Amino acid sequence: SALTASEIREAFLKFFEERGHRRVASSSLVPANDPTLMFTNAGMVQFKDVFTGRETRDYRRATTSQKCVRAGGKHNDLDNVGFTARHHTFFEMLGNFSFGDYFKADAIAYGWEFVTRTLGLSTDRLAVTVFNGEGGTPWDEEAYELWKKQGVPAERLYKLGLKDNFWAMGDTGPCGPCSEIHYHQGDDIPCVEEAEGKKCQGVACDCDRWLEIWNLVFMQFERKEKDGPLIPLPKPSIDTGAGLERIASVVQGKRSNYETDLFQNILATVSELCGKPYSQESGASQRVVADHSRAAAFLISDGVQPSNEGRGYVLRRIMRRAIRHGTQQLGLEDVFFFKVVDRVIELMGDAYPELRESRTFVLEVCRHEETSFRQTLSRGLKLIEEELSELQQAGGKQLSGDVVFLLHGTYGFPWDLTQIIARERGLDVDLVRFEERLKEEADKNKFAGSGDKATGEVYLKLAERLGTTEFLGYEGEGHEGEGS
Ligand code: ATP
Ligand code: MG
Ligand code: MG
Ligand code: MG
Repeated sequence: SALTASEIREAFLKFFEERGHRRVASSSLVPANDPTLMFTNAGMVQFKDVFTGRETRDYRRATTSQKCVRAGGKHNDLDNVGFTARHHTFFEMLGNFSFGDYFKADAIAYGWEFVTRTLGLSTDRLAVTVFNGEGGTPWDEEAYELWKKQGVPAERLYKLGLKDNFWAMGDTGPCGPCSEIHYHQGDDIPCVEEAEGKKCQGVACDCDRWLEIWNLVFMQFERKEKDGPLIPLPKPSIDTGAGLERIASVVQGKRSNYETDLFQNILATVSELCGKPYSQESGASQRVVADHSRAAAFLISDGVQPSNEGRGYVLRRIMRRAIRHGTQQLGLEDVFFFKVVDRVIELMGDAYPELRESRTFVLEVCRHEETSFRQTLSRGLKLIEEELSELQQAGGKQLSGDVVFLLHGTYGFPWDLTQIIARERGLDVDLVRFEERLKEEADKNKFAGSGDKATGEVYLKLAERLGTTEFLGYEGEGHEGEGS
């Protein structure tokens, strides 16, 4: 039978250990010494200074299974979660790294060997991308030839542009082309482009037909100044990242990460709690709860606590999004979230012992957050109902932006939740005025700066602005047509 996710994780680390890599533990989700980064969002984060040469280690090859969160900050997949088969807020990124040691030839050979031999994925289903030279940088002919040498046929080698196949640490610093390995899941899967009457973009498409499983970054240049020339690095490096959940999905013959063993047990718990069987078609809310319970478990055990600003606020948004799906979509009337989180701790505690060590604390934080959120929710809902009834009686069609602002600021109802509720009564909301008020407030009280400035999201600004008032922030999301 197919490998379990734990077996895949171990196989990966062992594969690279056997090839001279040091097995390094995952670093915390809270990046050390990097106030510009919201959360650790890739395997390379803990090695940043090693890549730039500011720090040296006693090894030049490393392999990790890194805890990652992509919610808030530059990579923000939060709103996708529950609605694509492949995006999570929390996920594990498997990676191998070379710090000025081996380069493209070995990285490509290792990657291909692991995928085709160790995992046994059929080459018929694999495709690889290389950088096409967009923007004047030379195209990655070297990688192209190396992939061909591994046996990747020309018709399965795609040349893509800057967005997908060029990586940079920032405006300055190391950068270079990359190659992504994709797995063909089937052309019968609905495509977002086709749904709009356009053509499916294949490996370059946003749909789930071709799933990106592994990204190999070839750090070979350095930029000394913004938009400056690319200077070849004397000792180029390798940084790769493969999502464990996606690998498990293809290895286990599934089309969704949620159907892997990583999620089946968590979904079973959600399903037991709400008394509704899980299905791919109707399971968006169950997926949201399952995904977010993992993020909450790992973030809290790494020291983040729900709060009104920065990292804590993103955690709060994640938890409240899950609780809202639980209460409103799944009919969970009692405090439930901590129970799902407990299941996560039980399932992941072997691979990440810090979960077990902080279990009591993590569960307490979850329980407390849900209890206070439930109180806020009912208070806010009452107020919103009053406002809407008054408006309807007066024959109005549009809820004023000032009310939306008040609801937002004082009761923690983001505009889009207010909008959803208003629409249910056939009413609209004045977002132009609302944004005016937001802007006025922001101007009045310019953000003084803290560690988490990088997240320029409106909710964060709001939370900061509200300062010491108890902000009962409620996460808003606008997933197309879902009213989620
Ligand atoms: P995508 O295009 O699918 O959003 P990406 O190009 O943003 O992925 P990378 O930054 O290249 O992803 O990260 C390396 C690998 O991590 C990806 O190939 C994928 O396997 C995995 N990955 C990235 N984002 C997520 C996510 N939100 N949830 C689960 N796995 C992810
Ligand atoms: Mg992405
Ligand atoms: Mg991509
Ligand atoms: Mg990628």
